[in-house]
Amino acid sequence: MPHRLRSLVLLLLAAGLPAMAAELKLRILETTDVHMNLLAYDYYNDKPTEEFGLARTITLIKAARAEVKNSLLFDNGDLIQGTPLGDLVARVKPLPAGEVHPAYKVLNAIGVDAANIGNHEFNYGLPFVRQAIAGARFPYVNANVVVDEPGVPEAQLKNAFTPYVILEREFTDEAGAPQKLKVGVIGFTPPQIMMWDRSQLLGKVKARDILETARRYLPEIKARGADIVVAIPHSGLEFGTTVMFGENVVARLAEVPGIDAILFGHSHGEFPGGFFARHPKVDLARGTINGVPAVMASAWGAHLGVVDLVLDNSGGAWKVKEGRAYLRPIYDKAKRASLAAADPMVEQLVGPEHAATVAYMRGEVARTTAPITSYFAQVADDPSVQLVSLAQLAYAKQALQGTPHEALPLLSAAAPFKSGGRMGWQYYTDIPAGPIALRNIASLYIYPNTVKAVRITGAQVREWLEFSAGQFRRIDPNGPPAQDLLDDVFRSYNFDTLDGVTYSIDVTQPQRYDVYGKLIAPQSRRITNLRHNGQPVDDAAWFIVVTNNYRASGGGNFPGLDGSSIVLDAPDENREALSRYLVAQKEFNPSADNNWRIQPVPGVRLRFTSGAGGIAHLARYPQIKLVQENRDGSALYELVP
Ligand code: MN
Ligand code: MG
Repeated sequence: MPHRLRSLVLLLLAAGLPAMAAELKLRILETTDVHMNLLAYDYYNDKPTEEFGLARTITLIKAARAEVKNSLLFDNGDLIQGTPLGDLVARVKPLPAGEVHPAYKVLNAIGVDAANIGNHEFNYGLPFVRQAIAGARFPYVNANVVVDEPGVPEAQLKNAFTPYVILEREFTDEAGAPQKLKVGVIGFTPPQIMMWDRSQLLGKVKARDILETARRYLPEIKARGADIVVAIPHSGLEFGTTVMFGENVVARLAEVPGIDAILFGHSHGEFPGGFFARHPKVDLARGTINGVPAVMASAWGAHLGVVDLVLDNSGGAWKVKEGRAYLRPIYDKAKRASLAAADPMVEQLVGPEHAATVAYMRGEVARTTAPITSYFAQVADDPSVQLVSLAQLAYAKQALQGTPHEALPLLSAAAPFKSGGRMGWQYYTDIPAGPIALRNIASLYIYPNTVKAVRITGAQVREWLEFSAGQFRRIDPNGPPAQDLLDDVFRSYNFDTLDGVTYSIDVTQPQRYDVYGKLIAPQSRRITNLRHNGQPVDDAAWFIVVTNNYRASGGGNFPGLDGSSIVLDAPDENREALSRYLVAQKEFNPSADNNWRIQPVPGVRLRFTSGAGGIAHLARYPQIKLVQENRDGSALYELVP
């Protein structure tokens, strides 16, 4: 068709349509769980990183905006806590009244349309959240936290924050004409804040069920003229049944009528992403949950969430005609390559706060009277593991106060993380006596795990230790006079020792479990003389064991650990517990309590290889002697019977 004729036909077609008919494309961007990773800097390892940091996400935000006519940007919360920079502003050099929190110096500069309050926003108490978000030049929403007032019926309690906003925006439609739209935005936080930050929140606020709150507010938002509604739940996507007051409820939220896009978070996962491929409500290719386009942009700025909507008002009202969602990463994990340079804006905006944080991490927080090393952590109770164990005990003791679990015996599980081997014979914790800086914590606890505690029986405690004891080879008492003790197949991070009980390990018995957690020698028992308070452990008695999210949810295939026994689901990292523990100590003597030991095998020298760096520390380990130093940075040692 000649061009002029086609134009005429289009004109005639247009004349027959309602006057307002238009198609409009809207891009919605999400950041979530940034956790104060404003710069791309790893404060524990004291170096820049390509793998996380909002400074890099900003580069993706700018690019994503430049590609389209219309866009909105939302942050889902867990913003103001999570790195030492967050601690610095909240606790170490508290934010002066009237000054803008560094998170908002950055977010204000990027231009955010609205933001949601995550659970971690409450970690420093309500006055601090309010002080911090007062610096945001964009609205904050939360619909499910209400002000607690004695004597007032629950249903009449007032919202603690603005439950939702209706943003009025002028967009450009596909024909280039301006269109005024009202975008409803509602936010939610996990009701578990009342447990995680009980001491900060009890008697001040109450949290309501996310779904119930959503069902109540959505008709109101629509009635007030919202053309589309964006929900920002700080909540993950659950498999299976959803409980009342659930923490992760996005599968059910996607069923609530009136929501056009979901920007979720909290569980630090990637949606759309392979982990959710088998979820019955999910269409991974389109990035929808129950047909609603949805994103979860992992955490720490590692991804930007993108929802692309095509809106159409041919029916007289704006409707989402098409929607899809996807993630844009800042880093290619497979190729180990950066995909987004850090935007220099962030360093310009919060350079002084960043520099103060680096100095804080390098500064002395405590003194240790003896070196803390991990050279012998696989064969003897060891200060590097003991310290983690003690920090976890202190954390859990406080966190369990006032709960039904307070009275149960509390044990702590910890394992050596840096233990040479495949990572090289230099790869050990080796902190000299003297000042300890916070950045040393990275060397004591290398994973960003979070603190969890499980409630298990004495029998399960025994099985836990039996699995751990799989680290040792079976020693033949009638075999060669010198035998290798460590089984290289077994990962040291699965060699959990338990503080709070005493026990011995009989390495002449076969491994009861294989590394996959399969019971391979039902008759075998390596753990002997397991005692609590000097008394043999009763198989039927209950214990609380504090550990990390990896272990508690089944990591390492430990028998009986599958997430179902978790009673303390703390949001804080184990290294944060360690950091608080160290800050609370002025000077400490990092000695282990020798609550466990390997039983000597008469007539056999039990040998193992570790870093040669351990030789300098042998004086503190009377139970270990050097056999020979090797040329590769390792040394052969043996246990002294
Ligand atoms: Mn988070
Ligand atoms: Mg110990």
